[in-house]
Amino acid sequence: MNEKESELKVCPLCDAPLPFKPINISYYNKSNKICDDCFEIEKNESKEKKV
Ligand SMILES: [Zn+2]
Repeated sequence: MNEKESELKVCPLCDAPLPFKPINISYYNKSNKICDDCFEIEKNESKEKKV
């Protein structure tokens, strides 16, 4: 339980503070800017856009 080593980062898309460090609980594996959840949503949404 090393709270000092954990680091939260607020995702600009979902506005949720999610763990950035340590890597084993990180939500920022796919992107350093947005969390994995939003990354997946973004990916799906851009796929559905037929413009
Ligand atoms: Zn997010």
